[in-house]
Amino acid sequence: MPKPVVDKKKCTGCGTCVNVCPVNVFELKDGKSNVVRPEECIGCKACENSCPAQAIVVKD
Ligand code: SF4
Ligand code: SF4
Repeated sequence: MPKPVVDKKKCTGCGTCVNVCPVNVFELKDGKSNVVRPEECIGCKACENSCPAQAIVVKD
């Protein structure tokens, strides 16, 4: 199963991942992206590819 992981130290809270994820895996809280619905991830890597801070890695 794909597993998106956010490096909180790198995340700037820009919200891009929240907007690009087709299945709403992420939510912003306290200026950081949180993986709140990992079980929904389909492994498309849109988040990893569009994060300007390269803070997301989608593990297989
Ligand atoms: S796209 Fe990257 S920097 Fe922006 S909120 Fe998501 S994890 Fe953080
Ligand atoms: S890989 Fe795709 S489905 Fe999974 S969290 Fe990233 S954008 Fe969402």
